Amino acid sequence: MRLKFLGTGTSQGIPVIGSQHPVCLSTNPKDKRLRTSALISLDNGKKILIDCGPDFRQQMLANHEGQIDAVLITHEHNDHVIGLDDLRPLIFKNKMEMPIYCQERVGKEIKFRFPYAFAEKKYPGSPSFEIVTARENFELFDEKITSINVMHGALPILGYKIKNMAYITDASQISNSEKEKLKHLDFFIINCLRKEQSHHSHYILPEVLDLVEELQPKMTYLTHISHLLGFHDDLLEELPMHIQPGYDGLEIEF
Ligand SMILES: [Zn+2]
Ligand SMILES: [Zn+2]
Repeated sequence: MRLKFLGTGTSQGIPVIGSQHPVCLSTNPKDKRLRTSALISLDNGKKILIDCGPDFRQQMLANHEGQIDAVLITHEHNDHVIGLDDLRPLIFKNKMEMPIYCQERVGKEIKFRFPYAFAEKKYPGSPSFEIVTARENFELFDEKITSINVMHGALPILGYKIKNMAYITDASQISNSEKEKLKHLDFFIINCLRKEQSHHSHYILPEVLDLVEELQPKMTYLTHISHLLGFHDDLLEELPMHIQPGYDGLEIEF
C-alpha cells in the first residue's frame, strides 16, 4: 500500500498570494505546498483520497492520477472539502455516487455546500455524492480503517489509521485514550503549522516534538505546513532523522 502526499501546505498554501517572505519566494519545488491532501493506493488497485481541497484538480493532473474510489474527509474546513465538485469527471466515468466518509456533522455541511450533488432531479453535469458516516472502525475495499478523534481547537475532527500508518491533520490536541491508537506507529503523519507562537487550532513544532517523543513512531512526516516553519532543506538538517517535513509528491510504502 502506498500513500502519496498530494499537498502539504496550510490553508493558504505556499507561496501565500502576495507574500514576500523568503520561504514564499523560494525556488525549491519542495517549498511549494498545495493544500493538504493525500492519496492512498491499495494493493488491490483501489484509490482512497484523504481530503479534497481547492487544489484537488491541479494535484490530480500534476500526479497523473485519474482514479478515486472513495474519499475520507477529516473535517469541513474549506481547504479540506471545497474541491469535491472536481470529482465530477471520475464520477461520470464510473457512473457512480462517490462515497464520502466523514463525521455526521461534516456530512451535513457537505450537503449544505453542495446541495446539487444530492438533488433528486439533478441539473445535467452535477456530481453525485454518497455520505457515509465514518465509524470508529470500518472497512473500505477490504481494508480496515480506524477513525482517530482529535481536537482542532474546539472542533472535534477525524484522523485516519490504516495498517500501522496514521494520518492526522489540523489537530491541536489528542486525548490520552485516542493516543493509545497512535503508539509505536510505522508512519505518523501530523500537522505542524510553524516553529513558534502557539496556535489555537494547530500544533506547532515544539508540540509535535513532544508528541513524537510520547508516541514513539518509527517515522514522522509533517504536513499542513505554513511558510513560518521555514525552508524544507533547513528543516531536514534541523530535525532528527526520524522526523521530516512532508513535501508535495512524497510517497511512502507501508
Ligand atoms: Zn486545514
Ligand atoms: Zn481546519
